[in-house]
Amino acid sequence: MTTRTHPVDHELIEAAAHIARTRCRGDNHTMAAAARARDGRIVTAVNAYHFTGGPCAELVLIGAAAAQGAYQLDTIVAVGDRERGVVPPCGRCRQVLLDYFPGLQVIVGGGAGGGGGEAVRTVAITDLLPDSYVWADHQLGSG
Ligand SMILES: [Zn+2]
Repeated sequence: MTTRTHPVDHELIEAAAHIARTRCRGDNHTMAAAARARDGRIVTAVNAYHFTGGPCAELVLIGAAAAQGAYQLDTIVAVGDRERGVVPPCGRCRQVLLDYFPGLQVIVGGGAGGGGGEAVRTVAITDLLPDSYVWADHQLGSG
């Protein structure tokens, strides 16, 4: 597999890190996400943890962006609280992000956790979910 990398949006990482530092509290909100909308603005969100399956920051962000009229996102990054750095999206989020924004770029690596030691880089959502299930392909009347 060849993974193409793209320039890293450091302003976006800093926006997510700022939210993680200042808005994450206790066990309910432990992750922050920031996305660059097509029109250039940055949208941020935090996760809403709950044992029933509360949404990750990336999913909250999709709704928050839509509430601001931002329906097209170009780049997304998630940053953990307690200085955990950049955290890659979980499997569920990879699928949702792919279905909503097939051209999305995701910033990964560089975190204190899973990406420890790796340089922060920007990859396509399709590279994070190879051989992916494409939800739209399975809807009646889509073909
Ligand atoms: Zn997730």
